[in-house]
Amino acid sequence: MKYCLDCDWHATAADEPDQRDRSRAAIDHHVETGHAIDSSESLVRPTTPDGLGAVLARELVPSSD
Ligand SMILES: [Zn+2]
Repeated sequence: MKYCLDCDWHATAADEPDQRDRSRAAIDHHVETGHAIDSSESLVRPTTPDGLGAVLARELVPSSD
């Protein structure tokens, strides 16, 4: 998912099934508000430290939330 560091805005797979739509929505939010968007959909796969695996696994399961 993508989420705003400055407010409660977020875009999940449930909200926008297409990752490109989520990216565009995040960019739109940033442009409109100047807020910083963070994302767990980094293009560079992190070499997972302990604990991050659970987050990644949850992201791979569709509609789990
Ligand atoms: Zn925001």
